[in-house]
Amino acid sequence: MSSVREDAQGASAEERVTDFDAVIVGAGFAGLYALHKLRNEMGLSARVYEAGSGIGGTWHWNRYPGARSDSSSWIYCYSFDEELRQEWEWSERYPQQPEIMSYIEHVADKFDLNRDIQLETRVTEATFDEETERWEIRTDTGDVVSARFLIAALGALSAANVPDISGTETFAGEWYHTAEWPQEGVDFTGKRVGVIGTGATGIQVATEIAEQADHLTVFQRTPNYALPLGNYPLDTESRRQYKENYEEIWEWVRHNFSGHDYDFIGKSILEATPEERERAFQERYDRGGFGLWIGNYDDILESREANDPVSEWVRARIQERVDDPVTAERLTPRDHAFGTKRVPLENGYYEIFNRDHVELVDVKEAPIEGITSTGVRTKDGEYEFDALVFATGFDAMTGPYNKIDIRGRDGQLLRDKWAEGPRTYLGIMSAGYPNLFAITGPQSPSVLTNMPVAIEQHVEWISEVVQHMRDKGLDVIEPTREAEDEWVDHSQEVAYATLLPESATWYMGANIPGKPQVFLPYLGGLGPYRQKCDEVAANDYEGFAFATREGANT
Ligand code: NAP
Repeated sequence: MSSVREDAQGASAEERVTDFDAVIVGAGFAGLYALHKLRNEMGLSARVYEAGSGIGGTWHWNRYPGARSDSSSWIYCYSFDEELRQEWEWSERYPQQPEIMSYIEHVADKFDLNRDIQLETRVTEATFDEETERWEIRTDTGDVVSARFLIAALGALSAANVPDISGTETFAGEWYHTAEWPQEGVDFTGKRVGVIGTGATGIQVATEIAEQADHLTVFQRTPNYALPLGNYPLDTESRRQYKENYEEIWEWVRHNFSGHDYDFIGKSILEATPEERERAFQERYDRGGFGLWIGNYDDILESREANDPVSEWVRARIQERVDDPVTAERLTPRDHAFGTKRVPLENGYYEIFNRDHVELVDVKEAPIEGITSTGVRTKDGEYEFDALVFATGFDAMTGPYNKIDIRGRDGQLLRDKWAEGPRTYLGIMSAGYPNLFAITGPQSPSVLTNMPVAIEQHVEWISEVVQHMRDKGLDVIEPTREAEDEWVDHSQEVAYATLLPESATWYMGANIPGKPQVFLPYLGGLGPYRQKCDEVAANDYEGFAFATREGANT
C-alpha cells in the first residue's frame, strides 16, 4: 500500500524523500510551531507525521459538545509573529473547539505548513542507529524514513483512556470516548445518555448533553471543585485593548508561574483576616477562570492549614447551587484538597442536576460492575441507555511515548527505561536517546501551564540548541546521567513540597491501573523553569554532552 501512496508533497514512492534533518511527530500546536521554526526559519528539511485525519492535535480529536479552552483566548495562541497576533480576532474570552480549529488552520495556511505534514500516519517505531547517529522512523502506513533530529510533539493528553469495564463490547447502543469524537458530530436529541467521568471534560460534555438528551445520567467516581468559567463575548474595543498591550501581556505570561493571566496574591493566607479572604475568594469566583487556584494566596497548595479555608469556601458554593441536598452532598468533594486535582471550569454544570431529566450516580458508593447490551450495571442496579460517553481521561504524559517503540542506545526501549516513571533532563531529553527532543513532555511544566506559552518556550529552546550544533559542527546531543538523575530528584522534591502528590490524579499516574505513582509534570513554575533552561544554555549547555560524527566529545 505504501508503495503507491503519495506523500505529503504528492511525490510517488520512487521520488520520495526519505532522509530529513528533522522528523516531527504530531501536528498540534507544538508540531506546527516546530515545523515553522525548523523549516521556515532555519532552513532544515522536515516532515511531520500526524495520526489524525487533520491537523490540530487535541483540538482535532476532542470535538465533543462543550469542548472549549480554559485559557483566555488572547493568550491561547502563538506569540511568535506580530502580524498573526494582530490579525486574528477572537470572539470570546474562552474560545470553543471550532474557533480554535479555525485559528490553527489559519496558522498552517499562513506559514505554508501543510505541504510537509503527512496525515493519517501514525509513527509506530523510532530507532536510533548508533552507526549513522540518525533516527530511523517507521509508520503504520509503511513509511521508513531517517532523521538527524526526532521531535516528539505528541501532546501530553493524547492517549485516550477507555477503562477496562467488562461487557463494553456487548453494548448495543453507541459509545464514544470524548478524545476520539466522530468528526461528523453526534446528535443526542431524544436519547437516554450515560456519561462516565466528571473531570474537566466530563463537566463540559455533560453540561451540553443535558441540553439535548431526553435523559442524562452522570456517573461520578470523585467529585471535583469546579469553578465558574466566566465566559463573555469579546467586542472590538476589548480586542483593541489586549492587542495594544500584547508586548506587556506576553512578557508577563512568559515569566510568571503558569503562563496564564494570573499571579498569586503575594501573601500567605495565614496572614489574611477572614474578611480579606472572603473578599479575595468572592472576587475571583465572580470573575471566573482559574483565579481561585493559581491567582490566590501563595500557600494554598502548600499545607492543609492554608488550603482548608478555600476548600471549605468552594464546597459551600457548590452546595448552594444544587437544590437536592443529597445530590449537593454527592457533588461536594471531601476526599481531597482544593487545587490538588486539575480544577475544571464550568458553565452551568451544577445547575443541570436541578433538572428532572438529569441524574447523578455515585460510583464510589455503588461501583460499576459491568456494561451490558442495554446499559450500565452498578452494584445498586441497571441503567439503560441509547448512548454512552466515556469522559474517562488519558494515560497522561508518558502514555503517548509508551505507544511508540522508541529504541535508543543498545536498543533500549524508552518505555522500559521509564518503567518506574519518566527519567529526563529538563523534561526535554532522556539519556540514551540522543537527538530526541520532547515538547512539553513529562518533567516539564507542560500541563500545569497555558500550553501555547510552554510550547513556544520549548520549541525556541530546542531550535536554539540545534542552531548551536550547526554552528559548531556537532551532530549529537544527549544529557548526562548525572544531570538527568538530579532533574528527576528535583522535580519530585518540588512536587512533594506541596499537597498535590496526596491526591489520586492523572498528574500522579493514579488514574491508570498499574502505572507508577510519580508526579509527572514539573511543578516549579514556568518562569523559573524558563530561567533554568536559559541558564543551562548560557552555561554551554551544562548537563548535556555533544559529539561529532566521529564520536569525539566536545
Ligand atoms: P480526567 O481529569 O482524568 O477525568 C476522568 C474522569 O473519569 C474522572 O472523573 C475519573 O474519576 C473518571 N473515571 C476514570 N475511569 C473511571 C472508571 N473506570 N469508572 C468511573 N469513572 C472513571 O480526564 P479529563 O476530564 O478528560 O481531563 C483530563 C485533562 O485534560 C484535564 O485535567 C485538563 O488538563 C485537560 N482538559 C482541558 C480542557 C480545557 O482546557 N478546556 C478541557 C478538558 C480537559 P476519578 O477522578 O475518580 O479518577
